Amino acid sequence: MREVTRPAEASNYQTVSHWFDLASERLGLADDVAAVLRSPYREVTVQLPIMRGDGRIHLFTGFRVQHNGARGPYKGGIRFHPEVDLDEVRALAELMTWKTALVGVPFGGAKGGVNVTPAELTPGERQQVTRSFMDKIEKVLGPTRDIPAPDVGTDAQTMAWLMDEYGKLHGHTPAIVTGKPIALEGSYGREAATGRGVVHCFTQAAAGLGLDPASTRFVVQGFGNVGSWAARILQDIGATMVGVSDASGAIASDAGLDAHALQEYLAHGGRLPEFAGAESIPAGELLSLECELFVPAALGGMIHRENADLLRCRMIVEGANGPTTPAADEILTDKGVMIVPDLLANAGGVVVSYFEWVQNQQHFRWDETEVNRKLERVMHRAYAEVSARAEAGGDCLRVAAFALGVERVLEAARTRGYIG
Ligand code: GLU
Repeated sequence: MREVTRPAEASNYQTVSHWFDLASERLGLADDVAAVLRSPYREVTVQLPIMRGDGRIHLFTGFRVQHNGARGPYKGGIRFHPEVDLDEVRALAELMTWKTALVGVPFGGAKGGVNVTPAELTPGERQQVTRSFMDKIEKVLGPTRDIPAPDVGTDAQTMAWLMDEYGKLHGHTPAIVTGKPIALEGSYGREAATGRGVVHCFTQAAAGLGLDPASTRFVVQGFGNVGSWAARILQDIGATMVGVSDASGAIASDAGLDAHALQEYLAHGGRLPEFAGAESIPAGELLSLECELFVPAALGGMIHRENADLLRCRMIVEGANGPTTPAADEILTDKGVMIVPDLLANAGGVVVSYFEWVQNQQHFRWDETEVNRKLERVMHRAYAEVSARAEAGGDCLRVAAFALGVERVLEAARTRGYIG
């Protein structure tokens, strides 16, 4: 079941195009330069036939899009989701290009995906899809070429299979993927990093609005990796979760929902709508819960023209990629809702991916405190740069973030001699 239906307007591709065009206008980019920056460097589409337990061959399609490598090796997650297609992966790859530039990690942007529903596969079948995908794209990957990571529908276990498969062909190469399990040279703090980055953005934005975390009520749409970590860390700093959803439904409670207990309950097979002490509500009602902070951490395009007006929050911090369509963004901005955009808000994941890659190059490990301290420093710096840029140009945070990202990629491309 999907949480909220998404109209055609909600494609990530249209959303990213819209913001890129605005940023390129701000930067005064010539059409030919903008066209080069927008278009992907390489797109790979592969066939993944898998023999399943029912004795039939099921055919999936895998994609890897390398958008721009001017600033370093391509970097971005791999998504397993039935709605994955080339346009979606292309848009997400482009977002990675601006995101890595914005937070100043020396990577380009990429994304991968397979149009599979992971929950419908046995663990053995998931492993087969994952290894087969690696076999088919390994020629364009490498620790100095393109480094995948987890995204929607994939996790540390998926990364372990990818690393192992790559290792069979090239020898043990931990830096080929990030987001690995701790037992296989993964980084401490990587699993929580995207959610932690969301919270850093919240605290920075809250300070600007004079909002105290202890009196902040928040709602999380999507209790996956990003949403559940953001919720747990927000709770740890004193905020109260008053609503949350996942693919099975939504729940609310004025008195607050315990994010740690919910995580435990779901990990042991519980269903979110039946979580004790909470009221089960229709998924559509989640958006209209009164709160200070709304964290979209599900799929792209979930907040759109037809439902944006329902939101009753002061601030949105985008844990997901592309959750707010341009039309929704305009409605919300007019209502005075502050939006911390995906590019900045969910960059904590790729920042700690960078730390993992650095540790892997040295076969060395930092402790969690050190990783978290370094992450905080990067997020605070990026937040300060985006808000200063927004203020100077009279822009919203999103246009400022895109403009900063695009500007840095352009500078690298020019310096290399790719663009005159
Ligand atoms: N999938 C995450 C993102 O969208 C992380 C990517 C990475 O760590 O390379 O930012």
